[in-house]
Amino acid sequence: MANSKKWGNIIGGKEDLEGDNHILTSPADGSEIGEVVYASKAKVETAIDSSAAAFENKWLHTSLRDRKSLLQKLAHRVMERSDEYANLESLNTGKTIRQSMLMDIPLGIEHIRYFAEENEFRESRKISHPEYPDTTGEIQFAPMGVVGAIAPWNVPFLMAVWKTAPALLAGNTVVLKPSHFTPLTALELGKDALYAGFPPGALNVVTGSGDVVGDTIAKSRKISMVSFTGSTTTGKRVMSAASASVKKVTLELGGKSPNIVFADCDIDHALKGVLFGLYLNSGQLCESGSRLLVQSSIKEEFVSRLSKLLEAMKAGNPMDMTTDVSAISNRKQLDKITTMVNEGIAGGATLLYRKEIQAIVPSGGLYYPPTIISSPNLGLEILQEEIFGPVLSVVEFRDEKEAIEIANKSDYGLAAGVWSKDIEKAKRVASTLMAGTIWINEYHLLSAAAPRGGFKQSGVGRELGLEGILEYTQTRHIFVNKGFNDQDTVAYGLVIAEGE
Ligand code: NAD
Repeated sequence: MANSKKWGNIIGGKEDLEGDNHILTSPADGSEIGEVVYASKAKVETAIDSSAAAFENKWLHTSLRDRKSLLQKLAHRVMERSDEYANLESLNTGKTIRQSMLMDIPLGIEHIRYFAEENEFRESRKISHPEYPDTTGEIQFAPMGVVGAIAPWNVPFLMAVWKTAPALLAGNTVVLKPSHFTPLTALELGKDALYAGFPPGALNVVTGSGDVVGDTIAKSRKISMVSFTGSTTTGKRVMSAASASVKKVTLELGGKSPNIVFADCDIDHALKGVLFGLYLNSGQLCESGSRLLVQSSIKEEFVSRLSKLLEAMKAGNPMDMTTDVSAISNRKQLDKITTMVNEGIAGGATLLYRKEIQAIVPSGGLYYPPTIISSPNLGLEILQEEIFGPVLSVVEFRDEKEAIEIANKSDYGLAAGVWSKDIEKAKRVASTLMAGTIWINEYHLLSAAAPRGGFKQSGVGRELGLEGILEYTQTRHIFVNKGFNDQDTVAYGLVIAEGE
C-alpha cells in the first residue's frame, strides 16, 4: 500500500484498475495522494454477480467457526499494517494522525476481533409449539444473501468494519461502497480480506458516485439487504429505491444530539467531555454533541471556560502528532458549514466564540475554526439541523423538565449526553430521552458489544452488538412432526370429514 499511488476496485478476488481515474487530494494541505478508479454501473453489476456466486457456492457452506477464524486472520493482517492504515486514513480524511493512530484504526481492529470472538450469536434455537405438543420447532437465523453496504466519508475505516464484519459473520457476502471522497482504507480492507483467505467475492469493494454505484446497489434485485450510513436526505432516497425489490434496509442517519449539563455536575469533567463530544473529528461525527444544553445558573462560567479550553487546542497540520484541530474532509462540506453558520448569524444567532486558526493551518487545506453560537430562537435552522462541523450551539434551561423538553424537540434522535453527579437523576433523564445512545458523564465512547442507531429521523435498525448481527439475518422456522398423531386428526378433519 505505501508505494501504491493508484487504487482500483476489489471485484471477484482482484483489484480492478479499469474505469474513470480520479485524483484524490489531502484535505490537510491540498497535496496529491494518488488516483482512485470509480466503478461504472457495469462494474458494480459484475461485483454483485461475483458476491452472489460467492454466497451460493462458497460462503453459505462455510461454517460459523471458519468464518470467525477468517475474521481473526483479517484483524491480524490489518494490525500488522496499522501504521499504514492510520497514515492513509488521515491523508484521505484530514483527521488528525493522532486520532487515526489512537482511535480509528485500533478501534476498528478491536471491532473485527470482537466479531471474530463474540459468542452470543447462535445460528438457530429450538422451540416448542404450545398448541401442538407432539411437534418441535427450530428457528434459524439465516443470512440475507448479498448485502449492499453504503458508507459515508467521515470515519471510513470504522464504517467499513462495522458493516462488513457482522454481515460476514452472519453468513452474508458483501458489496461495500465507501464514499468516493474517502475510499482508501476500505479498498485496503478489501485487499486484506483476500490476503487473509476470504473467498473471492465474499467482500467486494466498489467506489464512485452515489448516483451510479450507490443507486445500482440500492436497486439491484440480486441484493437482499442494504445497510446504509449517511445523511437523512440520502437515506430516504435509498429506502425508496430499495422498495421496488422489497429489500431489507437499515439506515444510520444524521443527528443533532443534545449534551445536557446540570449545575450539579463535575464541571471540570463536563467541560472536557463537552469539548470532546463536539470537536472530535472536527464535529464530523453523526452522534456529535452539537447542542449544548446547560443549566442557567452555570451557563456564563461554563461557556467562558469552554472557550478557554478551545483557545488552548493546537491548530496546525493534522499529519503532525501534536495537532488537535482536524481539517474538514471535503470542499462541499466546508461550504455547507460556512453557509449554515453565515445564514444562522444573519437570522439572529450570536457568535459567542470563534478560534483563530487561519494563519496557523496549512494554506492549501480545508479548515473551519471551532465556533460557539447561541440564539434564543430555538426554531432557527442552525439550532435544528445537522451542521456536521466544529460548531456548538448553546441553549440554557431552568430545570430537569425543561431540559428534557428542549432535548426531545428535534426531528432527530441519535444520541445524547447527561452530566450530573446525581446518577439516579441522570438515569431518569436518560430514560426519557428519545435517542438510541445516551452517555452519562461521558460522550462518544462506543463498544462493539452495544447496538447503536437512531430514533425518529436518525435511522432504522441497529449496528454493532448482538442486535446489529441479527439485522443481517432473516428467521426461518422449521416445523417438525415425527408422525401422524391426534393433532393431525383434528386439523385435517377441518377439511376431510371422518370416514372420507
Ligand atoms: P451522504 O448521504 O451524502 O452519502 C453517504 C453515502 O451514500 C456515500 O457513499 C454516497 O456516495 C452514497 N450515496 C449518495 N447518493 C446516493 C444514492 N442516490 N443512492 C445510493 N447511495 C448514495 O452522506 P455523507 O455526506 O457521506 O456523510 C455524512 C452524513 O452521514 C451525515 O449526515 C452524518 O450524520 C451521517 N452519518 C451517520 C452515522 C450514523 O451511524 N448514524 C455515522 C456517520 C455519518
